[in-house]
Amino acid sequence: MTYDHLLSPITIGDLTLRNRAVMGSMHTGLEDFFWDVPKLAAYFAERARGGVGLIITGGYAPNKRGWLKPFASEMTTRLQSERHKQVTAAVHEHGGAIAMQILHAGRYGYTPFSVSASAIKAPINPFKPSALSSRGVDRTVSDFAHAAGLAKRAGYDAVEIMGSEGYLINQFLAARTNQRTDAWGGTAEKRMRFPVEIVRRTRETVGEGFPIVYRLSLLDLVEGGQTWDEVVELAHRIEEAGATVLNTGIGWHEARVPTIITQVPRGAWTWTTARLKREVSIPVCASNRINTPSLADELIADGTADLVSMARPLLADPDFVNKAAAEREDEIITCIACNQACLDHAFKNQKASCMLNPRAGRETEIVLMPSLRKRQVAVVGGGPAGLAAAAAYAERGDAVTLFEKGSELGGQFRLAMRIPGKEEFAEALRYFRRQLEIHHVDVRLGVAADAAALAGFDEVVVATGVTPRMPSIPGIEHPSVVAYDAVLRGEVEVGSRVAIIGAGGIGVDVAHFLTHDPTETTEDWLAHWGVGDPSAFAGGLTEPAERKPVREVTLIQRKTSIIGKGLGKTSGWAHRAVLKQAGVRQVSGATYDLIDDRGLHVTVDGVRRVVEADHVVVCAGQESVRDLYDDLLASGRSAHVIGGADVAAELDAKRAIEQAVRLAAAS
Ligand code: NAP
Ligand code: SF4
Repeated sequence: MTYDHLLSPITIGDLTLRNRAVMGSMHTGLEDFFWDVPKLAAYFAERARGGVGLIITGGYAPNKRGWLKPFASEMTTRLQSERHKQVTAAVHEHGGAIAMQILHAGRYGYTPFSVSASAIKAPINPFKPSALSSRGVDRTVSDFAHAAGLAKRAGYDAVEIMGSEGYLINQFLAARTNQRTDAWGGTAEKRMRFPVEIVRRTRETVGEGFPIVYRLSLLDLVEGGQTWDEVVELAHRIEEAGATVLNTGIGWHEARVPTIITQVPRGAWTWTTARLKREVSIPVCASNRINTPSLADELIADGTADLVSMARPLLADPDFVNKAAAEREDEIITCIACNQACLDHAFKNQKASCMLNPRAGRETEIVLMPSLRKRQVAVVGGGPAGLAAAAAYAERGDAVTLFEKGSELGGQFRLAMRIPGKEEFAEALRYFRRQLEIHHVDVRLGVAADAAALAGFDEVVVATGVTPRMPSIPGIEHPSVVAYDAVLRGEVEVGSRVAIIGAGGIGVDVAHFLTHDPTETTEDWLAHWGVGDPSAFAGGLTEPAERKPVREVTLIQRKTSIIGKGLGKTSGWAHRAVLKQAGVRQVSGATYDLIDDRGLHVTVDGVRRVVEADHVVVCAGQESVRDLYDDLLASGRSAHVIGGADVAAELDAKRAIEQAVRLAAAS
């Protein structure tokens, strides 16, 4: 397929972009300190070399009160502007264009001196902001314009003003957070004054022709959010004030509707961009859960948008655009929206990377240099760790043989892709399979390699994975007991009442799998999360439609903590919400007594009870499979062990893939 619409140039202001693919803003953690500037330059340079039309940086605060956290990125001085020249030059060297995002965190600032429109604490931040004085508001407007001027001076080709996701500008716009009675609040019109003034003064500062992208919150997805009429009115005023492009923002960070994680259907929000586009005459940019060139192209072709923003997809694959242009889309590392190494890291104050591409953000640190001599490398196990190791060694030019005892590659990925909303894992598998083909890896399916078969290889990598743990509970041999992998593979016709032992990531996923109605459409998904027409419901939020679970499921753990506590920082809450929507009963602090024809007998708080069940599904973690590794060591051979075979306790594809790629890069 050719992607002529996505790849066609577009002129915004005085700037002509070579195509309409935009790398959306995302904080990587490399923005905050000047000593990371070379890494940031290398990170963006790789994406510019990969062909993207416009890169938008992570957010830079226009003043200290706008910091995301103490000492976070800011653009306030000439010296800072000077340092950015390394970043802009690196992008320009590869024919790319780059915009700096100006973001004032407002009450999302994780600092005791944050400010907002009114002194109202955000539900996701322990710090209460103080209300900006009228003069303070005016100064903040000037600071935005000043930051834009410094960005222009640093060689940026454009700026983006962050007006969405619940940050300061959004806080001024919504009655929920703006209870001011001065010139900056009280009516919708006065609440709009802040962003309009910012755009107007920014235009004055940067002059005609310099592109100003404004990220507009199309759906706030919070109580007391903006109505659609207000959004459209604001769009008109922003356009009049001098914005060049309107980008799509969906949902405040405190919204209890997931907007970008994997369970959000692809392109779930593009209808909002299409509606905006009908209202304005400047170009609009679609965003959120757009991760393939075909979807991006389609959105431009059908008139939904003029540009398409993809942040995580360009983090995952710097060559996304070039691969699409060369019709090598099957080689793209498709972002599976897991958030595991990007946003989860950012929210934990760690540097962002990508679960599937651990080189992302570490371009200067993990380098796959050509091997000095072509080594014979054996990789045993075709799960995420083995696939990543085989692909990385082969990319270095080594001759790689991959042994997999099963009939298919994929390991835990094959299970993950069966979970509703995690179908994207199939893309990860497609990517690795293609890498093995391109680099001529000799794949031996149905072969359980033993120590003898591995004689003669220069390097042996053991990635034999894990096996589900079967706890010793009286009755564990009962025919109703099944392991989670058999359930997910569809090997068991599961009854209508199910008890799940173990409520870690997999227990939660299996509960979702067993209750989910497979006929759910994107419209149903939106309705289940209470997303309504913003013309009828302010903020686009209405009463959620009831989910109809297809089974009665009880999810049980021994710990007394809340279920799902250890799940991902940015996605765990949504997984827990789905369990609630699906009526999954949750039992913590249980002791398992017995399994029999009635079901699972447990004791909770000293009281014995029976969870009646047709099936008891065991999701009690895993144990490493490392017999081969032990045999190799016993016979005096050296080998590397990675992934679940190395550590099952925290079985996790992010660690497995990173371990594999670092090993291949270092050896
Ligand atoms: P897990 O997170 O370690 O959970 C397994 C649960 O089984 C434990 O929480 C434990 O809870 C219980 N358990 C352990 N030993 C037991 C025993 N002998 N008898 C009864 N119960 C026992 O493992 P997992 O759920 O298999 O997930 C594996 C990894 O996959 C996780 O580390 C996670 O990183 C990843 N994953 C994450 C997600 C996600 O974030 N959405 C989804 C899927 C997988 P109690 O001791 O309290 O009973
Ligand atoms: Fe996408 Fe996951 Fe990589 Fe983040 S970590 S860029 S969500 S694949």
